[in-house]
Amino acid sequence: MSSPPDTSDNPVRFADFDLAPAVLKAVDEVGYETPSPIQAATLPPLLAGRDLLGMAQTGTGKTAAFALPLLSRLDLSRAEPQLLVLTPTRELAIQVAEAMQRYARHLPGFHILPVYGGQGMDVQLRQLRRGVHVVVGTPGRVQDHLRRKTLKLDTLSALVLDEADEMLRMGFIDDVEQILEHTPPERQIALFSATMPEPIRRVTQKYLRDPVEIRIQAKTKTVTAITQRYWQVSGTHKLDALTRILEVEDFDGIIIFVRTKTATVELAEKLEARGYSAAPLNGDITQQMREKTVERLKSGVIDIIVGTDVVARGLDVPRISHVINYDIPYDTEAYIHRIGRTGRAGRTGDAILFVAPRETRMLRAIEKATGQPITPMQLPSREAITGKRVGQFKQLITDTLEGQDLGYYEELIEGYQAEHNIGLAEIAAALAYLVQRERPLKPSVDEVPEVATRAPAREREDARRDPRQRARRDEDRGEPRGREGGAPEAGMMRYRIEVGRSHGAEPKHIVGAIANEAGIESRYIGRIRLFDDFSVIELPEGMPKHVFQHLKNVWVCGRKLNITPDQGPAGKPGGKKPGFKKPGFKKAEGGKGKRKDNAAGRSRKP
Ligand code: ADP
Ligand code: MG
Repeated sequence: MSSPPDTSDNPVRFADFDLAPAVLKAVDEVGYETPSPIQAATLPPLLAGRDLLGMAQTGTGKTAAFALPLLSRLDLSRAEPQLLVLTPTRELAIQVAEAMQRYARHLPGFHILPVYGGQGMDVQLRQLRRGVHVVVGTPGRVQDHLRRKTLKLDTLSALVLDEADEMLRMGFIDDVEQILEHTPPERQIALFSATMPEPIRRVTQKYLRDPVEIRIQAKTKTVTAITQRYWQVSGTHKLDALTRILEVEDFDGIIIFVRTKTATVELAEKLEARGYSAAPLNGDITQQMREKTVERLKSGVIDIIVGTDVVARGLDVPRISHVINYDIPYDTEAYIHRIGRTGRAGRTGDAILFVAPRETRMLRAIEKATGQPITPMQLPSREAITGKRVGQFKQLITDTLEGQDLGYYEELIEGYQAEHNIGLAEIAAALAYLVQRERPLKPSVDEVPEVATRAPAREREDARRDPRQRARRDEDRGEPRGREGGAPEAGMMRYRIEVGRSHGAEPKHIVGAIANEAGIESRYIGRIRLFDDFSVIELPEGMPKHVFQHLKNVWVCGRKLNITPDQGPAGKPGGKKPGFKKPGFKKAEGGKGKRKDNAAGRSRKP
């Protein structure tokens, strides 16, 4: 295990490393002054051809950490894949390919090809045939190409696994292993991961040869540049709270995280209606459109992106000054990734988290994971909003006085003053009134109601009285919890999948795999209940056959889902019928931890 060199006193420079001159030139043009700690640590071993295991959080500069040395080692006279970079999502594949293209701009004849699902296969094929040096892609699409024999990896000299833990989380680990099996034994491997869960550890032990291990403790550093606050959801509707906050925060670009694809669209529309330039980002939007949206945020055409975790992950737009967690993330890792979208490239950032009363536990878990307190915030008062609007109004006057030729209007007003014999202040006041009529400087009680400060306590009281809420709180306290929600919704159907707690599965793995692999919007994924060696999941009725077939072969935590209907006409014959409808089940479900699982588990034994 080696630590990064101390760069505080005597900064290392990129020129101190044996990078290809063309690469060095590009780095200089991109404007990097000194290597980041992980770059300083990875450049020598990767340039020397060593395998490497890098543990570092997002935002530490991992792309250049592997790209600069591996690009320097390419043999450009060989127009065949020499370097393969695997990333968990298409967004990351594109981003990494773009960054590498920038670092490689002075390498003559350099070709890089991003391959990912959703993009035309024919374009990729044509490019592959023409000859590329580097392929960047998601494991799924790379596997597709391998199966069709349109991509061969026997010419590969190096392979990078970027965000390996995320690939695991998304159910790609088997694809990754199969891809690794297609590579020549002497290839160099660099594996990057923020965490080191057992399956990743296993992959490193199996495939990496005597790797150099680098660990960068950038977690706290990344987070300290970000001011973290939370608002306890109470009384005020979340949308009203959001617009109030937007009104007083000094922001540049914002990313707002929500849980579902529909919410991205709905919230973006509502913000648009309230005068903000916002756009949604979700997996249903075409790749081309998504890229355009990110470009529009970058260039300031829009200020707000409303996105889900999967698509917004890895977004690197320096002008993002605020991350707003409109819906709380499912786990602490996701939170860290989300807020890492701000405070990029040495800037500071703001993170705001909306926390419903029953989500307080997650808030504490996040504080623990980041090692930093998240401070409570009050919604801006009507006075604060008035103050802000007045400030903006005054600025508008100043800007207009400075930037406009006002001679004509001055004469007009002087004429009016002479005709009516009143003061200039009175005339100006009348004009000011007209200007602000659409959006009053002093918002009405309707527009900005009083903040109901006592609401949280009341809601807690209600929760204590409402047995359903109480059950949820008990569930919070217990083991891995399925997704929220009471009785199964109409139109949903229960399925059994052959992966459970004993395989290390958590709801997020299952949701991730099903959302990604079957293209089922996560909002359609209902409650997941984990048992020891299987789980039960609610999905919409009428699942198309091909989706169902596909889901059978999806792997989660090293197990095939082998999904089967758990109930209803298509249900398996025999003792498998679970009896979810039995009146006893619901009671058990609302009961305490262990009992409910045993009860349900027993009723399910064949
Ligand atoms: P990670 O993959 O660790 O999340 P990235 O490779 O995406 O990090 O880099 C994060 C940001 O830091 C990018 O905007 C990148 O351009 C910038 N960056 C990387 N290395 C340097 C450097 N040495 N100096 C300045 N900025 C850098
Ligand atoms: Mg990265």
